Amino acid sequence: MFTSASDVRSEVESFAPYEAGLSIAEIQQKYGLARVIKMASNENPLGTSPVVQAAVQRHAGQAFRYPQAGNPRLVQALAAHLGIDPAHLFLGNGSDEVIDLLFRVRAVPGVHHAVAFKPCFGIYTTQACLNGVSLRQAPLGSDFHLNLNALSALIDENTSLVFITSPDNPSGATIKAAELAAFAQALPPACLLVVDEAYIEFASSLNEYSLFSRIASGELTNVALLRTFSKLYGLAGLRVGYGILPSRLAEYLWRVRLPFSVNILAEEAVLAVLEDRAFQEESRRVVLAGRAQLTDGLRALGCVVYPSQANFLLVKPLCSARALNQALLQRGLIIRTLGAYDLPDHVRISVGTAEENTFLLQAMAEILPNFRRS
Ligand SMILES: *Cc1c(COP(=O)(O)O)cnc(C)c1O
Repeated sequence: MFTSASDVRSEVESFAPYEAGLSIAEIQQKYGLARVIKMASNENPLGTSPVVQAAVQRHAGQAFRYPQAGNPRLVQALAAHLGIDPAHLFLGNGSDEVIDLLFRVRAVPGVHHAVAFKPCFGIYTTQACLNGVSLRQAPLGSDFHLNLNALSALIDENTSLVFITSPDNPSGATIKAAELAAFAQALPPACLLVVDEAYIEFASSLNEYSLFSRIASGELTNVALLRTFSKLYGLAGLRVGYGILPSRLAEYLWRVRLPFSVNILAEEAVLAVLEDRAFQEESRRVVLAGRAQLTDGLRALGCVVYPSQANFLLVKPLCSARALNQALLQRGLIIRTLGAYDLPDHVRISVGTAEENTFLLQAMAEILPNFRRS
């Protein structure tokens, strides 16, 4: 056994795993650095809310317990927080799990396909592949705008899922809710539009950019929204994401989900952070101020910075992205290169605290002239 490729499914044999950002520990060890700043994975620059830390500590003694199947307390609290019927909610081990289950529940391998932009968030690609579902990809427009006409051209009666990320990762581009609603209304009857709103809390206006109110009101019945506690709420390591879905679809997802995918401490952390409005507001304030600081600073250094409504910037530096990344790593700064997204000349930089952003801008100011001369 396991001496030839035929011992595993063909999707597994050819599988290219998701490429995560480098870790702080990895870079500290490699370069012998005391301090490393990670601006690579769009995590919350303020860290974990102290209110959440206290809640997790308070409940640490419950770690031996399974969570209540279906996390009903969390579903109720989240429904109240959003002002939506709990029947429309589904919770997963990060929105990554929701994406995987949407493929498994909606798409029949060899019959259906999914549609997304190129480049797109890596998990759409990996889970399509693993589930044996082909993913058709439409190029983003010039300057990375989300060109819905290009998506439409790939959609037919066998399209079961269309993924749009808004604000988009890695481009930061956003599309207006009114345009998305018109797009959803024109889809073939068997097609579900999935709008991944992982970064929606950082957009200038929820009303203008989120389909939430149109789904809550029942106006749109063929749309799923994905949200996460990994970004604004600062809980990436605890893995909680959710879908706002047509209730029939939510029922099927609950039916097939592994029973305990959102654990007890994650549940307590989310309950705590939902109450912690001050942390949510401060996180948003720091990111919006930092986004402006980095945009201005990087442009002043001659970089192309694309407009972003997320907590990161897509940047085209004056020099090789690889060389810049190497030089920053040596100074203890982790940013994200985008080879995995087919953007080898670009980097993605997560917004940090004011102090971290200043440190990055200073490092770049020192690095870039050297590269230009050579
Ligand atoms: C970060 C991110 C998510 C969130 O993933 P989790 O599994 O909830 O941590 C989802 N979609 C996109 C596009 C993201 O960038």
